[in-house]
Amino acid sequence: MGHRDRLSVIQSYRFALYLSPVQERALVGHAGAARKAYNWGLKRIKAVMDQRAAERSYGIPEGQLTATIGWSLPALRRAWNVAKPVVAPWWRDYSKEAYNTGLDALARGLRNWADSRSGKRAGRPAGFPRFKSRRRSTPAVRFTTGTIRIEHDRKHVTLPRLGRLKLHESARKLARRVEAGTARILSATVRRDGGRWYVSFTCEVERAKCTPACPDAAVGVDLGLQHLAVLSTGDVVPNPGHLDTAIGKLRRISRGLSRKVGPDRRTRRDASKRWCRNQTVLGRAHARVANLRRDGLHKLTTTLATGYGTIVVEDLNVAGMLRNRRLARRISDAGFAEIRRQLTYKTRWYGGRLLVADRWYPSSKTCSGCGTVKTKLALSERTFTCTTCGLILDRDVNAAQNLAALAATVAGSGSETLNGRGADRKTPHPGPVAVKRLPGTATVGKTGTVPPQGRTSNHVLTSAT
Ligand SMILES: [Zn+2]
Repeated sequence: MGHRDRLSVIQSYRFALYLSPVQERALVGHAGAARKAYNWGLKRIKAVMDQRAAERSYGIPEGQLTATIGWSLPALRRAWNVAKPVVAPWWRDYSKEAYNTGLDALARGLRNWADSRSGKRAGRPAGFPRFKSRRRSTPAVRFTTGTIRIEHDRKHVTLPRLGRLKLHESARKLARRVEAGTARILSATVRRDGGRWYVSFTCEVERAKCTPACPDAAVGVDLGLQHLAVLSTGDVVPNPGHLDTAIGKLRRISRGLSRKVGPDRRTRRDASKRWCRNQTVLGRAHARVANLRRDGLHKLTTTLATGYGTIVVEDLNVAGMLRNRRLARRISDAGFAEIRRQLTYKTRWYGGRLLVADRWYPSSKTCSGCGTVKTKLALSERTFTCTTCGLILDRDVNAAQNLAALAATVAGSGSETLNGRGADRKTPHPGPVAVKRLPGTATVGKTGTVPPQGRTSNHVLTSAT
C-alpha cells in the first residue's frame, strides 16, 4: 500500500498488568518520584512569584525584582538536575523518566494556566497548578526513551528500570502492527486505575483507509436520557443506565465504609484494615460501572462510524446541562460528550464525516415532513404532531430525521468540512429566527442552560464551545 491508502493517526493501546509485589512497589516508587519532582518545581515557582509580588508591594522597580525562573520543561529539568542531590538524595533509585513525568506535567499545567489567562486557550479557564498528594493523585509514570518493547510471547512487556511485566491479555493487536511496521511506539505510561495497573502505549499508527458500509447514507442521532440515542432510521439505542443499576450496591458499600474506622489526618489516625479493604471494594465497583459504560459507548460509536458516510449530531451543552442537579448524575452516566469525542475520531478512521448541528437548531420543534417550526413543544409531549401537514411521529425520531436532513444542506465531503469541536455556524434555520437573546445576558463559558422552548439565542454564542 502506498501513502495514499494510509491514514496516520496517534492512537493508544491499553493493557492491564499482572504485577508482582516487588514490581508494584517499584511502580509506586516511580510515581512517588514523579510527584516529588512536580511538587518541588511548583513550590520553587510559587516562592519566586510570591517574592516578586512582595517586592512589588514595597515599591521596588520592576528591573530590580528577583529574577524569574524558567517554566519550560528543559528549564525545569536543568534546575532539577542541579537540586536533586539535596532535595532527593535517593534520586538514583528511580528512572530519570519518573522525574521527567512530574516536571512535564508541571510545565504543561503552567502553560495551560498562562494560555488560559492570556486568552490563547479556549474552553473553561484553567486554574493554577496545585500540589499533588500521595492520597489523592493517580500514580502514573511515563517512559519515552529506553527499552520499550513487547516480548515475542506477546504476554509480557519490557520497560526501562522495571524490566519484564506480565500482561493480563495478549498484546498481539499492537505487536502485529509493530512487526508489520504500521505502528511506532512513542511512549508507554503505567498508571493505576480502579485498583488495577495498566500500561498504555501511545503509538503512531498507519491505518488503512476505508469507507463505511453505506458511504452515501446520512444518519441523524438524537441523544437523550430516556433512550441513549434515537436514529433517524427509527432504531432506538436504549439507555443502559449502568450507574442507576449499580447505585444500590454503591450505596451499600459506602454505608459500610462510613461505619468503619477511616483515616483522620488531624488526629493522625490510620485507617483500619477493614476500611482499606472496603475502600478497594468500592473502587472496583465504580471501575466496573466505568468499564461497562465505556464498552457500550465504543460499540455504539463504532457501529455508527463504520455504517454511515455522514453522521449528524446536535451540539449539546453538556457542561450547562450538568448544572441541573436533578439530571446531572444521569447525564454524566449517559456520556454524551464521550459519544461526540469518539465519533469525531472514528469518523476520520473509517472514512466518514461528522456534522454537528448548531446548539440552537430546533431539531425537536421542526416538522420533518414539511419544515414548520413549532413555537412550543413541552418535554412531556413524546409524540410530534404537525398541525400543518398532519405528520404524527415519535418525538425523538422526528428530531433525528431533521438532523439527518441537515446533511444534504452541507456541501462537500470529508471530515474537514467541520472541525470536531466547534458547532457548524452555517446551519440554516428552516423557520423564522425567533427572539434574540440580549447581548450580555450570557457570557462566554457561561452559556449555561438550553434556552427556554420557543426561543433561540443570539448566534454569536455558538462559538462559545
Ligand atoms: Zn408538518
